[in-house]
Amino acid sequence: MLKFEDYKYERPDLENEKQTFRGLLTAFSEATTEEDQNKAIEKINAFRNRLSTLFNLVYVRASINTNDDFYQKERDFWDEKSPELQELYTEFYKELVKTPFRDQLEKKWGSQLFSLADYQIKAFSPEVISLLQKENKLTSEYSKLVASAEVEFKGKTYTLAQLGPFTQDKDRNVRKQAIQKSSGFFEENADKFDDIYDQLVKVRHEIATKLGYKNFVELGYVRMLRIDYNAEMVNVFRKQVRDYIVPLVSKLYEKQAKRIGVDSLKFYDENFEFKSGNPTPKGSPEWIIDNGKKMYEELSDETNEFFHFMLDRNLMDLEAKKGKEAGGYCTFIEDYESPFIFANFNGTSDDVDVLTHEAGHAFQAYSSRNIGIPEYVFPTHESAEIHSMSMEFFTWPWMELFFKEDTDKYKYSHLASGLSFLPYGVAVDEFQHLVYENPDWSPEERKEAWQKLEETYLPHRDYEDIPYWQSGAVWQRQGHIYEVPFYYIDYTLAQICAFQFWKRSREDREKAWNDYLNLCKLGGSKPFLGLVEAANLRSPFEEGTVESVVDEIEKWLDSVDDQAL
Ligand SMILES: [Zn+2]
Repeated sequence: MLKFEDYKYERPDLENEKQTFRGLLTAFSEATTEEDQNKAIEKINAFRNRLSTLFNLVYVRASINTNDDFYQKERDFWDEKSPELQELYTEFYKELVKTPFRDQLEKKWGSQLFSLADYQIKAFSPEVISLLQKENKLTSEYSKLVASAEVEFKGKTYTLAQLGPFTQDKDRNVRKQAIQKSSGFFEENADKFDDIYDQLVKVRHEIATKLGYKNFVELGYVRMLRIDYNAEMVNVFRKQVRDYIVPLVSKLYEKQAKRIGVDSLKFYDENFEFKSGNPTPKGSPEWIIDNGKKMYEELSDETNEFFHFMLDRNLMDLEAKKGKEAGGYCTFIEDYESPFIFANFNGTSDDVDVLTHEAGHAFQAYSSRNIGIPEYVFPTHESAEIHSMSMEFFTWPWMELFFKEDTDKYKYSHLASGLSFLPYGVAVDEFQHLVYENPDWSPEERKEAWQKLEETYLPHRDYEDIPYWQSGAVWQRQGHIYEVPFYYIDYTLAQICAFQFWKRSREDREKAWNDYLNLCKLGGSKPFLGLVEAANLRSPFEEGTVESVVDEIEKWLDSVDDQAL
């Protein structure tokens, strides 16, 4: 059996590839029967899967080791060349939407493929290729800059991800110093972080106006493939968060301050939730993975098969190490039908979340791997996060395996932090609307805008002794803001859906799990609200959904004697 390290990468000859693709495209547009067009689509899909496999192998290997010269060079190559491929694929989409066999093809593949094709067309023109290349280069610069951090702390050198556990330390001074070190890295590089973002905003604005949009906001939604909702609906959702969740989260922070024994909660206390220490997994990385195996074996036949697939092929790179990029992600390597999970284990409860959250993504991709259309393997982001965040809840009955005596703490913290994330999440979203509506803002004006949003959404927040974060710069550590604009509201929409699965799994687990499985198999064959409906969930945009979910969680949290944990 092939393992990840055997998956073969070789740089393709793109000029040759382009010719091959043009041939396939001609076969598609000249096909005179539905059957021939379907055959041509299959060949085009195989072509795209093959190149996308190479692209993914490069990005995964380059992110695992930013000091590997070979894969860094290959990543530069793809940063440079992928817009040219996008040009080719856009030509395919243009042919696809005007096919005379559209009715028949829609019957076979569903209308979502055509909606996605329309959006891809709207997001691209050959005129903007050089600007897209510039954008790619800038986002890679950002992630390399963050990965380059080598912070001296207590006589040792750490990456930013490795500093994480210290921000949950029982000793308040350690927490404070760890946060100061981390913000210190951003402050030392403030000019670079400001400049990269400034250039990104300007280049995105230019792309948008060249494509005929007023500014980048509308294009941002198109790029995120938001087929069945818009900025106004998101605005209404943010309002629900302001009305129902912000006051509740302020109360949760007050309880937390009491619980950990401080007069007033500072920023460096936010990650420290229990006086006796945060819940942590009670063993080594190998032990965590072993328990993950047991958990997925017991959870269902489908998850059992999936997790063995991942283990047998080494499709997880989980431990933090020097030169490894920050964060965690799951991707899919098409020709090997392999999901891949990337993470930075650090000894906190986040390690278990990787095995539930990222594995939720991976399980979904695995479940829809044979869906037949590359566009459908993963759904759009807000839907994809339903799978991951809901898996975090479906695995609750196994949390004892990892957390032992800390299990109650873990569950309390999981729900409470799920709620308190929401105001931050919508603030990040509103921030980006403001930034792209005002492309001429200076870095200072952006920071002022962020400070105002904090007053609205994070009124409890107190950055005592962390001047750089105080100055409205804390969003600079949120990679999404640089790398994938407008990707963030997605987590909050999905959280509301995952909370519904949490609630339903307590009422009728089997029915909830079956709806979840079905949702995973649907992959990206429908837009967000279509998937929500297919999973028997309520739309987060619908009046009353946020309120009804939050009520249930508040009740659960109130039923726990948190001060005793
Ligand atoms: Zn995720």
